[in-house]
Amino acid sequence: MLVEVVAVGTELLLGQTINGNAAWLGARLVEDGHTVSAHQAVPDVHEMIVDAIRLGLSRADAVIVTGGLGPTKDDLTREAIADVAGVGIAFDDDYARRLDERWRSRFGSELPVSNFKQAEHPEGAERLRNPKGTAPGLWLDTPDGPIIALPGVPPEMQALFTDEVAPRLRRVAGWAGSRHVVVLRTYGLPESTVDERLGDIFEVSGNPSMALLASDGEIKIRLIGEAGTETEAMALVGPLEAEVRARLGSVVFGRDDETVERLIHVGLAARGWTVAAAESMTGGHILERLTGPPGASEVVRGGAVVYATQTKVDVLGVAPDLIDGHGVVSEPVATAMAEGVIRRFGADVGLSITGVAGPGPSGDVEAGTVCIGVAGPGGTRSRTLRLPGDRERVRRYAATAALHQLLGALREWPA
Ligand code: ATP
Ligand code: MG
Repeated sequence: MLVEVVAVGTELLLGQTINGNAAWLGARLVEDGHTVSAHQAVPDVHEMIVDAIRLGLSRADAVIVTGGLGPTKDDLTREAIADVAGVGIAFDDDYARRLDERWRSRFGSELPVSNFKQAEHPEGAERLRNPKGTAPGLWLDTPDGPIIALPGVPPEMQALFTDEVAPRLRRVAGWAGSRHVVVLRTYGLPESTVDERLGDIFEVSGNPSMALLASDGEIKIRLIGEAGTETEAMALVGPLEAEVRARLGSVVFGRDDETVERLIHVGLAARGWTVAAAESMTGGHILERLTGPPGASEVVRGGAVVYATQTKVDVLGVAPDLIDGHGVVSEPVATAMAEGVIRRFGADVGLSITGVAGPGPSGDVEAGTVCIGVAGPGGTRSRTLRLPGDRERVRRYAATAALHQLLGALREWPA
């Protein structure tokens, strides 16, 4: 089914809020087998919202609007939908009473008049219960297709979409079959090389289909098979997955929700080991990622941001001679940092990073130069990378590279 997404909010156009709802809905709709015709972002201006919904309905089978459902004067989505559908505004007395009661019990005062707006909806629209907030979603069938309104607040929008909208859209689309989705995660090859190696599969791909998604140095390959039953859908994807794996080899490091940090956890937990990290140029990105998955406390001891050269000496005990001899951005220093952080934090495995994020060089070391060290029961290893891009990109890619260096070591070290 063809679905158009309209995000409402002047702040989206000013760059004050990133249109994350569009990204999230785009991904979810595609997962559910729909196609997104276009994303629109419009200001809190009645005519603009009306035009956007009309345009959406003219070229898609359904329109999802997010935002503008709150109680304030600039929340215009309800009125805009009513105008598009040529219906009036209805008032839900029951809902208004409940809102009022809830407000009184919580704040001990009368509900501000503006809040009663949330009891209004276009005539004929169905109200979709919002488990995380007060503004309900709306579903209004029109001759040109349903108009669906969701709150702008991302967690509310996501819960309502998942619980109420996605199942209905699937029903409207008449999609009775099954889809099987496999995501293969790769690291170490540029996107163009992955594309080249898989190019001829792309050319014939329809069902099962394949798509590449690059993010922070990793490339995800999404395979989707659609068939009457789950078993048939899996049977479509199976051979394609085998073919992709055969062509890419160990570049494929994980599948589905096996992120690099989760796989590191698995590798550590299997041996009863813990990890600590010493970060210079990444300023904590690595530890943030290592502590992301649940269960991190079992395997992460901690770590240190050792940004200044002297701090590497003071906190990790890196020998000043080593720094003078090789430079602070060097593999011997990275290795010494990894060994130092093991001692300091009582971990089994140490991961370290030292480099130049840029924009300019540091001394005679070019921006984007990154040295990674890993130390542990299986020995030490270090690596130097040259990462392209601006400061932020270098920092993000460097963290990803460090995590992959650690995963690689864990996979090669004897258990
Ligand atoms: P509320 O009932 O809270 O007023 P609403 O439906 O009126 O909800 P908005 O007022 O438009 O929604 O937005 C509420 C908040 O949700 C915004 O401050 C913004 O942080 C976030 N938000 C709105 N639209 C988007 C969007 N497209 N992407 C990401 N966040 C958004
Ligand atoms: Mg609002």
